[in-house]
Amino acid sequence: MYLTNLAVTTIENDVWMLFRETNCTNFMKSRRDFLLKLGGSALTLPIVSALTPAEAAVPMVAADKQLRVALVGLGSYADRVATAMKDCKLAKLVGGVTGAPEKVDKWSSKFGLDKANFYDYKDFEKIKDNPNIDAVYITLPNSMHHEYTLRAAKMGKHVICEKPMSVSVKQAEEMIAACKKADVKLYIGYRLHFEPYTRELIRMRKAGELGKIMHVNTYDGFKSGDPNQWRLKKALAGGGALMDVGVYCINGARYATGEEPIWVSAEEAKTDPVKFKEVDETITFQMGFPSGAIASCGTTYNFNNFERLYVIGEKGFVDLSPAFGYGPIKGRTNKGEMSWDTTKMHQTWQMDGMADCILNGKPDPNVTGEEGLKDMKVIEAIYKSIAAGGKKVMV
Ligand code: NAD
Repeated sequence: MYLTNLAVTTIENDVWMLFRETNCTNFMKSRRDFLLKLGGSALTLPIVSALTPAEAAVPMVAADKQLRVALVGLGSYADRVATAMKDCKLAKLVGGVTGAPEKVDKWSSKFGLDKANFYDYKDFEKIKDNPNIDAVYITLPNSMHHEYTLRAAKMGKHVICEKPMSVSVKQAEEMIAACKKADVKLYIGYRLHFEPYTRELIRMRKAGELGKIMHVNTYDGFKSGDPNQWRLKKALAGGGALMDVGVYCINGARYATGEEPIWVSAEEAKTDPVKFKEVDETITFQMGFPSGAIASCGTTYNFNNFERLYVIGEKGFVDLSPAFGYGPIKGRTNKGEMSWDTTKMHQTWQMDGMADCILNGKPDPNVTGEEGLKDMKVIEAIYKSIAAGGKKVMV
């Protein structure tokens, strides 16, 4: 049995994950090593014999079946996603939504897109009649995620929405309800769930290799530049560092422990009350989990080199740093240095992974609207704790 080009990524990943989970040894730690050992072109490789019955049951994707995506809001992150999607096998960028007509020319020539698949924000609903767009990917400022998710769901299109999912728990709940009602998927752009180092951390924790999780440190932040950007305006951003990158600390502590926090306590420090008049600058916070594990976390808009996920269990540890940015992610465990594939952009893994679930009816990855909602609940509890002078707040 031979694989189509389009099926290769999916099957490669499945076999690699299976291989890693059952045979991981030091001499073949990376996916690249694995493929080199397999040798030759996967296009002509009869690898089905290496699959378990469950893996073999993964449906083959027809060569013409791809998730066709339009990006909504053609800013800097959209550009990164579009660039990464050039290497996707199962997802394909086909168009965009923008308020700037000049971007239609620029984007269609830069990414080879049909101008017929571009829309203005006010014409957004016309996408409904475009059979060549299956999903929209919302890369607008945070406070606009809610409106555009609701509008996209009404058009019957799947929704991928950037983090933070919304600017409130209430909005997040409405987004989930709207997508459920319309029977479309709602995934949040949590790219790290598809990234090899993060996946390995989650695999080790699930396999019990770390033992009982005792403690987690998560930090993420950077020095914010332009004082006039939307990220510093509460009406568009919803909050500051916590909403923007602190969400990675919350999500990271959740996937490092496999638990949901039951309480938080938090404090804010503000060194520049003019620049950060409307939003938070630096927040440190703790989260307590049902098992007794504690996460000690921090997020900032005030300095660089603040990026780590350190999970400590009774039997082992994983220390990723950098852990949340575009990478390359680096890390070590109690067994030594980690070495995984860093050749692909995170968003390439992400979009192929999401497309694989949507197209092939695979179980949803841990990036659903419900997962985004859990993070939003923690964010709100953190702001409540700060307002209450650092008191413990139940989530
Ligand atoms: P950006 O400012 O570069 O792009 C925002 C886009 O929205 C622009 O095209 C802008 O024209 C458009 N827009 C429409 N209405 C607007 C308004 N009223 N005010 C401002 N812009 C408006 O921002 P970005 O960095 O691309 O971030 C967009 C989203 O992507 C945010 O939610 C952010 O959190 C998320 N993001 C995620 C990652 C990640 O790694 N997952 C990284 C960066 C950004």
